[in-house]
Formats: sequence, structure tokens, C-alpha cells
Amino acid sequence: MNRLIENKTIDALSKHIMTGWVNNEKKSYEMIKGKLDFTTQDIIDAESRLKRFAPFIMKCFPETVNLNGMIESPLTRIDNTKKRLSEAQYLVPDGKLYIKQDNALAIAGSVKARGGVYEVLKVAEDIAVKNKVIDMNSDYSVLAEHRDLFNKYKIQVGSTGNMGLSIGIMSAKIGFEVTVHMSADAKKWKKDLLRKNGVNVIEYANDYSFAVAEGRKSALVDSSCHFIDDEKSRDLFLGYAVAAHRLQNQLALDHIYPDREHQLFVYIPCGVGGAPGGITFGLKEVFGDNVKCFFIEPVECPCMMLGLASGKHEEIEVHEIGLSGKTDADGLAVGRCSVLASRMMSEVLDGAFTVSDSELYQYMHILEEADHIFIEPSSCAAFEGYCGIRKYEDMVETFSLGNKELMENATHIVWATGGNLVPKSVRNEYRSKCSG
Ligand SMILES: *Cc1c(COP(=O)(O)O)cnc(C)c1O
Repeated sequence: MNRLIENKTIDALSKHIMTGWVNNEKKSYEMIKGKLDFTTQDIIDAESRLKRFAPFIMKCFPETVNLNGMIESPLTRIDNTKKRLSEAQYLVPDGKLYIKQDNALAIAGSVKARGGVYEVLKVAEDIAVKNKVIDMNSDYSVLAEHRDLFNKYKIQVGSTGNMGLSIGIMSAKIGFEVTVHMSADAKKWKKDLLRKNGVNVIEYANDYSFAVAEGRKSALVDSSCHFIDDEKSRDLFLGYAVAAHRLQNQLALDHIYPDREHQLFVYIPCGVGGAPGGITFGLKEVFGDNVKCFFIEPVECPCMMLGLASGKHEEIEVHEIGLSGKTDADGLAVGRCSVLASRMMSEVLDGAFTVSDSELYQYMHILEEADHIFIEPSSCAAFEGYCGIRKYEDMVETFSLGNKELMENATHIVWATGGNLVPKSVRNEYRSKCSG
């Protein structure tokens, strides 16, 4: 611990104060991309798989028909929010501001509709192909008639809430017998919604890592059971990475083509790291270093910043530096980061921030008042990247924030990761926590 505290970043983290961190291990993406565990081809495979499933998704989730069975969210310009933040004395950077609305993704109302849904579909495809129900060229909508086949298989997952919703809803629709191991942070309405969908919910009084470990253990003894491992899964990671080409298309519709003079800054809330890690990998594959990616975590739960800044990755846990691990941002309440995401991000990620719970509610309030978009507290963490980047001298220097022309040409994206399924009464409870 003493040696850790000598590290300036970890010292700040241990003092429960909001912090910004520049990743000095970051390498030129072109230089290292060949060394990474994933390739562009992996992303293309994932995109193709989702395309094969589109007829099935449309059939089971009619709300996806207008996107032809693609689960995708709008990219929305939020000028009013930018103005309001600036009026409220936040140090907003120049350039355009967008929100990527994964709060509005079909099926799960959160970013988990990318990774979680993708992994469940991949499991279903493997089973269906093995049982000769389909081949790669079939119309996958026939899978809706094979619930009896899928019912012989089990899916299990550990979750703080949203992963459970995504895996639970999708698995139950396909016909899997699905069990979600929920940590103490999981909200009651999420458990209720799952039970209503026919999902087995097991509740623990412990944290997220514990819930995952319990799930992993019970799946290990049952060969008909697939455990979705948020700390290690390659499939989850690739499901998230699919966001990148789609975002590229959305930006092009607004005539935004990132290059050295037109940089993209992307701010993503981080829990265990799979979602922001997968998205960041996809974005770097598409835009190289013309995209700068940042993760944001709660002050009490900065597992990824701790893992990366200490070089200890998943081998260190937030309690070890005196933090509580407690936060209202349930989606980010993770004390130990993903081994896969943290190792992958160590030379890729540009930087990270921590944010206090009270700030989350301020951002939530301003976004809703100015642009009429509701997102859940976890999701609001993204705004701390956008509003925080000018607060820290080493960030200003590293990312040339003082270069006026460069900044005026920049585009900033706050990645909203959840919100649409939050019931009205819970929204009101959140709203009452904002002092503004
Ligand atoms: C899960 C989640 C995240 C972070 O994803 P990880 O893969 O855990 O890092 C962020 N926001 C919300 C709302 C989430 O549900």
C-alpha cells in the first residue's frame, strides 16, 4: 500500500477526490494493433452474425423492425446541454457535442443490449447449427420455433443489474433456462422485471465480483450450462465493438469524418470494463488515434483506473486503497476490473476520470432539462469526461486542448449507457436527488 500511495494517481484515488488520469503507457495505435488479441476480422465476424440474426430479432422484438432487426441507437446533437453546462460554470471544451443514446437500445435499454445480446445469440447459433436446425445461410427466424431445443440448455450470468436484464430478457425469449446472480447493488425494479420475464434471480448480500464467482461456480458443475463471464468473455467484448462502424456511418450522415485536424473525443462510463473496452477497441480499429477514448468511474469504485495506473490490473481491488466500493451508479459498482479489458486497454486507452455521485445527478438534471433526454445515474458519468478534460493540466497538454483551431474542429461524444427501462417512480426518486 505504501508504495502504491507514492503513485500520484493512486494517492488521489485513495483520498476519495475526483481525479483525471492520462495514460502514459498509451502507444500509437498503428504501432501496436498487430499485437492485440483481437483483429478487425473478429469485429466483421460479429457484425455478420448479428446480420444473420436480424430476421429472428425482428420477429421476437417488433420494436426493432424499423431498423431491420438491427439493435442500434441514435446519435443526437445536444447543443442545449452544452450551453447549459457552460452557463453552470462547467469547463466545457470547444467543438460539437453529441450523445450516443445507448440508453435507448432495444431489448435492454442499456449498452448491455450490445455485448449481452450478442453472446446469447452466439450460444444459440452454436446449438442450432450443431443440431442441424439451421446453417449459416438459413433464415434465422425459424429459431423462434425451437424453444423446446433451447430449453434443454441453461445460461447463467453475474450482474449488478443491466447485464442481467439483457441476458435474461434475450435468453428467456429464445427459450433458454436462465439464471441471473445479482449483487447487492442491483435495484429491486430490475429483479422484479426479470422475474416477470420468467428469469431465475438469485440475490446476494455481496458485491459484483462475488455474484460473478457464484455464477461461475454453479455453471462449472453443469455441462448444459453456459456461463457468461463479464470479467473474461471475448464474445461480450466483440458485441460491444460492433458499435464502431455503425457510429462511423452516423457521423458521416452529419458530414463528420475524423482525421488529425478533426478529432473525436469519446467518453464512456466504465464498470468492469467490457463495454467501454469493446467500444474503444472498435473505435480505434476504425479511426486509429484520431479518436481519443476516456473511461469514467465513480470516486468510490475506480477499478479500471486503479488497475491501469498501478499496473496491477485485475490483481488489485478498490477496498485495498481504502475505498468503499459503494455508489448510486449501480452499473459501475465493480471493485475489480476485467482481466481481458484492462490488459487490452493498457496501451490503447487515452485516459480516465472519476466522478462523485452528487455530480451524476447534476448532469442528469441538466441533460433532461436542456434536451429532454433521461439517462440513469451510471450513464451520466460520461459527462464528467467532457466537463473534466479541461480541469487537469496534463490532459490539456497531452490532448492539445489549448489549440483553439483543433478544438473548434473537434467532436465530443458522451456515451449514454442506460436509462430507458427505468420506471417512472424510480426516475422521480433520482430527480429528487438533484440540488439544481
Ligand atoms: C454495464 C454498464 C456500464 C459499464 O459496462 P462495463 O462492461 O461493466 O464496464 C456502464 N453504464 C451502464 C448503465 C451499465 O449498465
